Amino acid sequence: MPVYSVSLRSGSSGNSAFIRTESAGLALDLGMTGRQYALALESLGESADGVDGILLTHEHIDHSSGIGVVMRRHKTPLYATLGTYRALLPFLGKIDESLVRIIEPGQSFSIRETVITPFSIPHDAADPVGFRIHTKAGDIGVATDLGHFSQTVREALTGCRIVHLEANFDPDMLETGSYPPSLKKRIAGSDGHLSNQESGMAASWLIRNGTESLFLSHLSEENNLPPLALRTVCSYLDQTGARAGEDYVIQVAPRYSCSRPMLCQDPFSEYVPGQGFPGQQLTLPLIGDL
Ligand SMILES: [Zn+2]
Ligand SMILES: [Zn+2]
Repeated sequence: MPVYSVSLRSGSSGNSAFIRTESAGLALDLGMTGRQYALALESLGESADGVDGILLTHEHIDHSSGIGVVMRRHKTPLYATLGTYRALLPFLGKIDESLVRIIEPGQSFSIRETVITPFSIPHDAADPVGFRIHTKAGDIGVATDLGHFSQTVREALTGCRIVHLEANFDPDMLETGSYPPSLKKRIAGSDGHLSNQESGMAASWLIRNGTESLFLSHLSEENNLPPLALRTVCSYLDQTGARAGEDYVIQVAPRYSCSRPMLCQDPFSEYVPGQGFPGQQLTLPLIGDL
């Protein structure tokens, strides 16, 4: 079974990703309606009933709005820290509590044969985490909603073959934009979100340490533009001498549609779930559907 990762939705309007490992189908956050989620999975040849667990990074609504519905409709277990679960509970509706699995940062757990390590991330939520999903084809890391690229996050993502990394805002657009000063401060703060420049520095470090494939995730609709995020991050990668299409592939995760799936075994080849390889070699950075 090919191991791959795909973004289903990305941005403050909703975030969700799907990862297929050798043994499990995993949803990463679920900030979309139950119907959108099921249709997105269907378009990949997957099924919502076949998802073995929802891994939740934190309780913010753009990551969690569809969880209650999906737990009721598809009986999918939820994996969340105690702080996240408590903060989310009032918004979940009636759920079967036997589907809830409480996890702790730094404590690995398994879903089927797949080992997953949650790690703490700096963000203004109850007890937010990122995830490292271990597979035989290489590891996949998820770290969106990052106030800064902390030492813990850096260590947790080292050597991940594929990484979903936040590139939330352009500092000039944020500064001159319409948000109130308090919100601007929150976004740019060390427990807020990652700027394109900070994302570029983090990406450079990751590519130098074994990462081959990057999703730029959670772009702000007000304070960023997909080509700007991509250009900024790639300019940092250029400075390290990393060559697009040879040393790495990169794509901006689209806001309202699925990204191109990234195949863990070979991030440089295009992969279509259910159809295998069309034989096309990826040679350029990918912008995704802008
Ligand atoms: Zn958040
Ligand atoms: Zn968010």
